[in-house]
Amino acid sequence: MTRRLSDAKDALFLRLSGQVRDSPVLTAMAEVPRELFVPPGLRHRAYTNEPLPIGFGQTISQPLMTAHMTSVLRPTPTDRVLEVGTGSGYQAAVLALLARRGSVVTVERIPALARHADEMLRFLGLTNVRALESGPTLGCPEKAPFDAILVTAAAPRLPHSLVDQLAVGGRLVIPVGSRENQELALAIRTGEGLSIKYRGGCRFVPLVGEEAWPPSSGQHGL
Ligand code: SAH
Repeated sequence: MTRRLSDAKDALFLRLSGQVRDSPVLTAMAEVPRELFVPPGLRHRAYTNEPLPIGFGQTISQPLMTAHMTSVLRPTPTDRVLEVGTGSGYQAAVLALLARRGSVVTVERIPALARHADEMLRFLGLTNVRALESGPTLGCPEKAPFDAILVTAAAPRLPHSLVDQLAVGGRLVIPVGSRENQELALAIRTGEGLSIKYRGGCRFVPLVGEEAWPPSSGQHGL
């Protein structure tokens, strides 16, 4: 890493540590080379606190949002984790480090992104995570139940199919709201039903599919 990039990384993590008080999450994030998850021409911006385009109209999330969502999800070392919306694969790498004795499945609807992310995760030697192309049902019902599900795209409401893929006691973190603005919801599946809390405003690219938004112009037309 160049001197300039490592200085930017130090400055970013110093700033994040003042905003997110969850040191395991920040340690895991600092361990993952974000510069490898952004397009080569944007590597110099890998440690600025902003989302960056990764192609197909999609983005790698802003580092502060990744830190916030991950600390709301609070993965434990043995959790079975699902991420919906692989994108670059950066968030999945962070989850794989936190659930180091568990496993992570991340699903992505754009095949080229899924493939590229899976290659990068393997290249980094992360053996407890797989990036898969998503199927017709939201999430990954074949590998359910999950202790923790993180959705890194915005849905109009809590998708039933993802709630069904939660183990009892499992947590689902998902941005819910309009296409423009969402609240980060934390839903916990209890023996009786669901407990739902909200953890602040956010803005994500739309989740596309049956229980979410139809693909629109400007989106990858799959
Ligand atoms: N977590 C990513 C950023 C996600 S951007 C990262 O760390 O880089 C949101 C991603 O969700 C996009 O790549 C988009 O294609 C994907 N997506 C949208 N709808 C989806 C669906 N129904 N199933 C799987 N992936 C979906």
